[in-house]
Amino acid sequence: MKRIAVLTSGGDCSGMNAAIRAVVRTGLSNNVEVVGIQKGYQGLIDRQYELLTTKSVSSKLQVGGTFLQSARCLAMLEEPGRRLATENLKEMEIEGLVVIGGDGSHRGALELQKRGIRVIAIPASIDNDIPFTDMSLGVDTALNNIIHAVDNLKDTASSHDRTFVVETMGRNCGYLALVAGIACGAEYALIPESRYDLNDICEHLQKRFQEGRDNSIIMVAEGAGKAQDIADQIKDRVGFETRIMVLGHYQRGGSPSSFDRLLAARFGVTAVETLLRGESGKMLGLSCGTISQTDLEKVTQGGRRDIDETLLRLASTLGI
Ligand code: ADP
Repeated sequence: MKRIAVLTSGGDCSGMNAAIRAVVRTGLSNNVEVVGIQKGYQGLIDRQYELLTTKSVSSKLQVGGTFLQSARCLAMLEEPGRRLATENLKEMEIEGLVVIGGDGSHRGALELQKRGIRVIAIPASIDNDIPFTDMSLGVDTALNNIIHAVDNLKDTASSHDRTFVVETMGRNCGYLALVAGIACGAEYALIPESRYDLNDICEHLQKRFQEGRDNSIIMVAEGAGKAQDIADQIKDRVGFETRIMVLGHYQRGGSPSSFDRLLAARFGVTAVETLLRGESGKMLGLSCGTISQTDLEKVTQGGRRDIDETLLRLASTLGI
């Protein structure tokens, strides 16, 4: 194998740069050229690429986002776009491709694999909704961002007897809200996977305040409700001041945590070594501490990752 390529696609997250760096350094140390495709699959279709060197990835590891940039590419959803992407890869004499992204990006990778391109996918998505991996790249950094924001919020919440509703990302998956709820000592974590009753919540909040507890934090995943709606209802029913914090894209950015840096290094190195062994069509994952490989076919048919029951039990035992 003489030349491989790497791209980042879909929603960006912290740790992507560290993974690109690991791919480049592993490729070069095996005498394989590494081409960086810009703006995900769009760059593949438009032939926007550059040859990457150790200098290209110097001082990038600690930076969030992706220096190759990411984009949504509608052309990849149709046959002509998929064909053009495949032809361009072949013309560029690229013998293997590492795709860093979420489940949509993995479906794109599978389409290229079906057309004869060797691909390895790295799971990257802050929601932690990708199946067949315990953790995706970017999740840990996003959690640290949330924890930092909520800790700060608690200081001001307790100074003014306030309830705060904090909205995290997670349209279908409540992982961030649930884990942040546990890590921040929130009163509630509302997630799409579990039903909740706002009447019960209001009753409980009232009791807390009567007992002299001066602040409450309610975490809500965006798929479980809008922070503003929940805050309005609490204010209407209980009467006390309820503020919101919608974390939005703040969660995605920032310097990657040590966990994400190490995970990016392990994923990046394994991706290239797997391609060099002649293997293809796999998504890497973290499974009980080791790097696993699952067929992309299986991953893309696997649906969303279920919420970990042990986390639900942990939250419930801690009174969340
Ligand atoms: P993520 O990878 O974060 O889940 P998206 O779902 O937006 O983000 O997917 C990223 C890109 O992957 C899309 O813009 C598109 O180019 C490509 N993609 C998504 N689904 C498919 C598919 N079924 N076939 C081919 N390419 C796809």
